[in-house]
Amino acid sequence: MQQNDLIAALGTTLGEAAIGIVRLSGEGAVELAACIFKPRKKDLDLKKIASHTMHLGYICGNDGDVIDEVLITVMRAPHSYTRDDVVEIYCHGGIIPVRRVLDLVLKKGARLAEPGEFTKRAFLSGRIDLAQAEAVLDLIRAQSNKGAELACRQLRGGVSDKIKDMRNQLKRIMAEIEAEIDFPDDVDPVPPGVRAQQIKMVEDKAAELVRGSSLGRVYREGLRTVLLGKPNVGKSTLMNLLLDEERALVTEVPGTTRDLIEEMLVVEGIPLRIVDTAGIREGVGLVESLGIERAKKAVEEAELVLAVFDAADEITEDDLRVIELLKGKKAIILLNKVDLKEKIQGPHLFGQYTDGDTPIIEISAKMGWGKEKLVDAIVQVIGGGQISRESDLMTRKRHQIAMEKVVDRLQSAVKGVEAEVPLEFIALDLWDAWSALGEITGETALPEEVINAIFEEFCIGK
Ligand code: GDP
Repeated sequence: MQQNDLIAALGTTLGEAAIGIVRLSGEGAVELAACIFKPRKKDLDLKKIASHTMHLGYICGNDGDVIDEVLITVMRAPHSYTRDDVVEIYCHGGIIPVRRVLDLVLKKGARLAEPGEFTKRAFLSGRIDLAQAEAVLDLIRAQSNKGAELACRQLRGGVSDKIKDMRNQLKRIMAEIEAEIDFPDDVDPVPPGVRAQQIKMVEDKAAELVRGSSLGRVYREGLRTVLLGKPNVGKSTLMNLLLDEERALVTEVPGTTRDLIEEMLVVEGIPLRIVDTAGIREGVGLVESLGIERAKKAVEEAELVLAVFDAADEITEDDLRVIELLKGKKAIILLNKVDLKEKIQGPHLFGQYTDGDTPIIEISAKMGWGKEKLVDAIVQVIGGGQISRESDLMTRKRHQIAMEKVVDRLQSAVKGVEAEVPLEFIALDLWDAWSALGEITGETALPEEVINAIFEEFCIGK
């Protein structure tokens, strides 16, 4: 399909609203608009108006009937989202006028855009790279302020800039190697120690991005979390405390195969998808004898377990069962009710029951103590303790896989340099790493299915 044929779509959702936007992009956008737009100022010619200016007028149907009073703007190529001519028509919101205007432009020869096609064009025309295009979707879909912030940073080129720097560094190293291969008599060879160091520097950056990517994905997708603990330790109270945070999206999904109900809550920007909230709310302790199987299943599927204990109580059999379930899981132990005078458990004492790697923090769900410590513990458990919350984080699995390949190839290159293997082999590894980096930004050619899969996730009109 021609890349700049004329497409149209709603830029807003169909429904009652103040305005609804019909967007056009591609060759002939302005001409088509001029043919259905009757300006309020008689002498105004849409084809001649300055780019990015707004004009009042009417959209008229075939018989000259006025469909809606609108504002219209033209964004001329290449200074538009898609880099083609773009026209936006601001109709009165409401299903009928917006739909009639869209129908009219389709009748006049525009084609209904595919999902994400505007953004796909922005990518194909080079206005944004692939990681930025993905960030557009992430921004629209963000589930938390932090998720939106990361998407925004990526959209502005945060991750892409890092990748470009890394690619440039690799290119320089590859050029030196190539010169040594092609003109062995004319160039001074770079000492292996120096070369290994140069490659290592890029590898370190890639490794840092890989480490951050699990946390980045958590910000984007949420973390499947289970709250575990015998009855009355304070799970519901903790849930309520955390719910006071940024207003969470409540997603109750009963009837899934798991038949566990899930609720999203956002703690300091980290979206936690709390599994089996019904169990918590109904006071069904997940570890009572009947609930143990259910608990096991929930824990198995969870990416994070928050295990709650009563700091004012002796450790019981039930508590030990909970601790048993934590083995091999990413977990945080919460000693709750530390506000009580009769507090008898401390992290130090409690540590004897655990493997030593699981953070133990003291909280009071009732008083709201320890929330900040909890968030730090989550970041530490997920990011492996090496990630600051302020880093640029990759947020997609696709990026993570490519970056893991980069690390792998660069490690191999460093080893090769140190073992003084022939330079051709080093060059191959570096080339692979360089291409994998380009897969993230889309500079390396990707199979069409991959590109399509990315844009199919978008809504029509974006
Ligand atoms: P769940 O069965 O684990 O969901 O426990 P609940 O959240 O229903 O709490 C059981 C009881 O412990 C309630 O009376 C709460 O008010 C009380 N509770 C929960 N957290 C705390 C806390 O941090 N301090 C104190 N003093 N009481 C708490």
